[in-house]
Parts: sequence; structure tokens; C-alpha cells
Amino acid sequence: MQKITQAYLEDVLQKSRPYSQKGKVASYIPELSEADPTTLGVTLIECGGESYSAGDHEQTFTLQSISKVLSLLLALEDQGKDKVFSIVGQEPTGDPFNTVEYLETEAKDKPFNPMVNSGAIAVSSMIKGRNVDERFGRILDFIRQISGNPNLTLNEEVYQSEKKTGAHNRSLAYFMQSIGILGPEVEDILDLYFRFNSIDVTVHDLANIGCLLANRGKRPGRNDWLVSEKYVETAVTIMFMAGMYNASGEFAIEVGFPSKSGVSGGIMSLVPGQMGIGVIGPAIGNRGNSTAGVQVLKTLSDDLQLHLFRDR
Ligand code: GLN
Repeated sequence: MQKITQAYLEDVLQKSRPYSQKGKVASYIPELSEADPTTLGVTLIECGGESYSAGDHEQTFTLQSISKVLSLLLALEDQGKDKVFSIVGQEPTGDPFNTVEYLETEAKDKPFNPMVNSGAIAVSSMIKGRNVDERFGRILDFIRQISGNPNLTLNEEVYQSEKKTGAHNRSLAYFMQSIGILGPEVEDILDLYFRFNSIDVTVHDLANIGCLLANRGKRPGRNDWLVSEKYVETAVTIMFMAGMYNASGEFAIEVGFPSKSGVSGGIMSLVPGQMGIGVIGPAIGNRGNSTAGVQVLKTLSDDLQLHLFRDR
């Protein structure tokens, strides 16, 4: 089997670069359209072991939908499973991440799962705090802790850009208010959602978060649980089923480990008990996932035999 070395990772990255031409930088949030589509960077951290990085691994980008895993974990810690899943479902969907249609036609009482926009907006309403500032402070602290990076901050430009152009997300939220999933504080919930989507990270941060989840909620080599094991299990299962939007099934078959992507082109992945991986490639395909990023993960999965259901 292939051994992980710096040279190997550089090679995977170079071979995956052409795949960025198959995608385009997201432009529906104006600030994101300024990203360079040819950027490609990766960090791989073995649980309790070595860390390897290649390409544009120092590039910062915003969490976007990757934050959906983190808000879910905090909401679960705050309210428990029964309460969280009383307003959001647990089922994968073949619909796009921002679909409005199914809320009215099929789901009726709740969004499909916490990995689509409507589900994540509903989950935001479960995070405790007296006001938006306090709730955001709690989620930022939580992400700083689980990434091990105390310097993470909000990207003010992306936040303002999302807020200004967030009509689609507003329509999801107001529709959910109309069917009783959300209460009167819709604008506050949206504000919180826009803020945690706009936290700046690097692939190192994503790989560290992946590693913590791969280690079931404990920082490798330490004994304190930063997240409850049972909630990591829930969140990681949902990542596996629904973390790559309506390409989750194909990704599960071809790559085979839990991952969560975002429209800025980041992907946070984990191989349980083994490693965390962060990738950035801002050119995304028509289902919202980094085209070159997915190629990096597929190559790593094949070469290192990381697919969960492959004999390892
Ligand atoms: N902030 C983006 C939105 O709400 C996140 C979506 C995504 O990454 N798919 O539209």
C-alpha cells in the first residue's frame, strides 16, 4: 500500500489540479466570486501522528456549509438529540442544498436534515444564548476549541455580502416560520447562520477538526472530551449520508469516508480512528462540491485504502 509522504501528497495535488477546470467559483454570494479557481491545498493529519500539507494550504477561506456540522454538534450539546430532531429530519436528500420546493411539498413539518440550508437554519435556532452576539460567541469559541486554533475570526466582508444577498435563505427561514418550525426571531436566527458560515479557516483547521471527530470527540493524546462521543457519532453519520449535498451517495461509494463540503470550496473529512483531512479548491461543480478537492480525496482513498467498507 502507498505510504504517506510529503512527496506523495504533492504528487496527488499536482495530478488533481486539472480538475479545477471542471468547476466554477460560486458567485451567488458576491464576495466568494473573488476567489482564485486554481487554488488547491490540502492538509492531512494522522490521529496522534504526523501532519502533511501541500499546495495552497495557507490560504484562508470561509467555512460556509462546513459550519453545518459544527452548529449541529453545539445544538446537540445544548438541547440533546430528541429536541434537535424534533425540528429537523435525519434523512438524506437528492435535492439541491438550498431547495425551497420540498419544504412545501414533501417534508411539510421539517427540513430533510441538518446539512441542507433549511435544516442548518432550523438547527441555529437551537443554539443557546441570550442574543445573537452571545450565541455567535459560543459557536466561535466552540470552533476555536475543536480546531485547536484560538485565532479564528469572522470574515466581516463575506458576512456582510451573505447578509445583503441572502434572499433565498430568508425565504427558507420565513417559510419555516409559517409552518411553525421557527418562532418570531427569524432575522436573528438568519444573522447567526450568516455569521457562522463566514468564519475564516485554513485546511489545517479543517484537518484538526476532522481529527477530533475521527478520535470520537477527544483531542488525540489527551483525555478530555471536547464533544460528547454520542453526538460525534450522530454528526459523522449524517456527514456520511448527506455531507456532500445531492452528490453524497456517489461520494460515499467512490470515496467512502464522512466529509462535509462548502460553497467556498473547502471540504472537511475524517477517516474514523485514523486521520482528519482538509482540502480547499474554490472551483465547485454543479452540485456544490470542489471538483479538484473531490479528486484529491478520491485519490487518497484509492491509494491509501481509506474507504470504510474496503478490506483494510
Ligand atoms: N452560506 C451559504 C448559503 O447559505 C452556504 C451554502 C453552502 O456552502 N452550500 O447559501
